[in-house]
Amino acid sequence: MKIELETIPVWDGLKSGSECFICDLMNAAERDAVDYYLGPAIMVPEIRVEMNRKGICPTHFHAMAERNKAQSLSLVLDTYMEESKKDLFPLLDRIADSSSWRKAMKSFKALEEYASHREKGCLVCDYMNDRLVRYLRTVAALYRDDAEFRFAFAQGKGFCVHHTLALVRCADTELSGDMLADYLVLLARLLKDNLERCQKDDVYLSQKYKSENRDKPWNGCEDAHRRLVRKLFGEGRVLSR
Ligand SMILES: [Zn+2]
Ligand SMILES: [Zn+2]
Repeated sequence: MKIELETIPVWDGLKSGSECFICDLMNAAERDAVDYYLGPAIMVPEIRVEMNRKGICPTHFHAMAERNKAQSLSLVLDTYMEESKKDLFPLLDRIADSSSWRKAMKSFKALEEYASHREKGCLVCDYMNDRLVRYLRTVAALYRDDAEFRFAFAQGKGFCVHHTLALVRCADTELSGDMLADYLVLLARLLKDNLERCQKDDVYLSQKYKSENRDKPWNGCEDAHRRLVRKLFGEGRVLSR
């Protein structure tokens, strides 16, 4: 499948010196997606239908609520509720009319299944995933085609564990043979070296708080704890697929 490569954001990301530039790009993709579904998109009938049918996952409904776009979100929620009520209310009525606790429990079980199904689909996650695939494939394609990128990539800070694995899953769409093998070895080397570096910085930070080290320099380790958390777990993860 042919995709539109994201050469400029990927190059900029690599140059930024971030612990994982895919995390940065995905944080931006998440913001863009939430804004998109709270913007003019909600006035498009087809998008509203899709929104009510597919839904938004709990994390991204919360993210929408945090955006302070009350007018847009209240409209989204109104039609989302109308759609949800068609399945939800008959189940609740059935429970209210139950003649025994066993029957009530059985209906609650059906409600639990309904709720988990309803929370699964997410248009924001889908939007993020489309972008993620483009970024992952662009990294591999630039590695294949651009010697300057390959050099900078090998000197860079690598990626978080989560996005390293995502890059690996996508690697064979753009690479094959020896080049694929080298790419996989390099991803593993980058992850190990940079996890080690982050841990060293974290140890330095923990020692810096001892009274005998009060006058020592920070050595850029003030945020080592945050960088290590990001390296281990990533940010801007696609939650619902
Ligand atoms: Zn990441
Ligand atoms: Zn989501």
